[in-house]
Amino acid sequence: HRHPESNEQIEKVLEALRLDDDDKLRVIMQSLEREMELGLSPATHPTADVKMFATYVRSTADGSETGQVLALDLGGTNFRVLLVDLLPQSKVELTSKIFVIPQSIMLGEGSYLFRHLADCLMEFMNKENLNKPGVRYPLGFTFSFPCKQEGLASARLSTWTKGFTCSGVVNEDVVKMLQVAIDEKNINVQCVALVNDTVGTLMACAYKDPNTEIGLILGTGTNACYMEKLDRVGTWDGDYNDPKQVIINMEWGAFGNNHRLNHIRTKYDEEVDLSSVNPGKQIFEKMISGMYMGEIVRLIMLDLIHQNLLFIGKCNGSEDFKTPLFTRGGFYTKYVSSVEMDEGIGFSNTRRVLEDIGIRNPSYDDCAIVQHICKIVSKRAARLAGAGLAVLINRINKPNVTVGVDGSLYRYHPRFKRNMEKCMQNLVSKNIKFLLQLSNDGSGIGAALTVAAAEALS
Ligand code: ADP
Repeated sequence: HRHPESNEQIEKVLEALRLDDDDKLRVIMQSLEREMELGLSPATHPTADVKMFATYVRSTADGSETGQVLALDLGGTNFRVLLVDLLPQSKVELTSKIFVIPQSIMLGEGSYLFRHLADCLMEFMNKENLNKPGVRYPLGFTFSFPCKQEGLASARLSTWTKGFTCSGVVNEDVVKMLQVAIDEKNINVQCVALVNDTVGTLMACAYKDPNTEIGLILGTGTNACYMEKLDRVGTWDGDYNDPKQVIINMEWGAFGNNHRLNHIRTKYDEEVDLSSVNPGKQIFEKMISGMYMGEIVRLIMLDLIHQNLLFIGKCNGSEDFKTPLFTRGGFYTKYVSSVEMDEGIGFSNTRRVLEDIGIRNPSYDDCAIVQHICKIVSKRAARLAGAGLAVLINRINKPNVTVGVDGSLYRYHPRFKRNMEKCMQNLVSKNIKFLLQLSNDGSGIGAALTVAAAEALS
């Protein structure tokens, strides 16, 4: 086994990533709540990093909604077209198809993106025989990027995130752009609502558990929404009828853009940020979500290699530098889950992962160190997300609050949920019981429920 001195050196490198002190989280909570207030106030909204967009969704569904609704889901790894059948007694039937968004479209011209979405929609409708004459199919557009909504079916893109950079879309009404592309194809579809994925997640979860007031995504990116009282939303420009509440899409991934997280950021976080397509943006997201976690782990491994503390003598040849270990993005976040699933001394998953990234015959110590790094990075992420939720739960301040959660990081990481809950137990007021509930198909069922709720109103 390694010399105790190298243990100490490794701990020294990892020290900056530890966030085990609850008081540190309490400071972050205060600063997040301050940023939320800045986002909600008209005077400070333009420069606030946490935008707190009002979504125009005023209530959750109660299960009485019925009908056929189409949904498009754009905002992460996959693009999906869905048909949702809302049946009596809260029954739901769902048909969907996944389509690929080629990299060239993600980085290309905006009009091509929307044309592509309409093409996929048309293909899906043809296959499902959705062509009843005279029927105009309502559609919910799950579009999971920061948007300033001006109504339920009107929303201007603030900025792209998660690797998209299509030109000519920022500041434009994305619902209008989609509708133009749809109308060009002569398909009888009306986009009725723009739905953020967090909102869909909240809606889908509330359908089953009426205590749900928060939606959280932990996937490619991270974001949250919650039900806010209208009198706390200074930027609200809609009516003040009952219910006097509205779902706020926080866009909390941008927390820290105004340097509020500098005291806990490490050089690895800075490097991840600088090599991203949106430097200086989405600082909170880059410390938490799936798009970045694996890369943080990889950068720490490289640092330890340079200090001769990891994989000693195992990557010296020039050929080695072509392996995933030495390639940006070469260590996937799913590897973090896999490595952390190893228990005991066998490290079978970890060995498989290390082989995948180009390390053959790692030592026991190598495996233990890599697992240690993964645990520290994912725990930091879970505690940051947990602290954010604690702010919302305390603010809602009801006896029971359920959080609907979706995203592969939350779903598949072996202890993300537990680590969140552990820190939240200390941060949430003692008079509140909270529940983290996996929410399924927010972007399908949730989007359909949002449309149904809107149709019921109109
Ligand atoms: P979306 O792109 O809509 O957020 P997901 O919720 O599936 O979709 O999130 C995808 C992200 O989740 C990927 O970027 C990847 O980083 C991460 N991910 C995928 N599989 C796993 C896993 N097994 N463990 C942890 N993270 C994962």
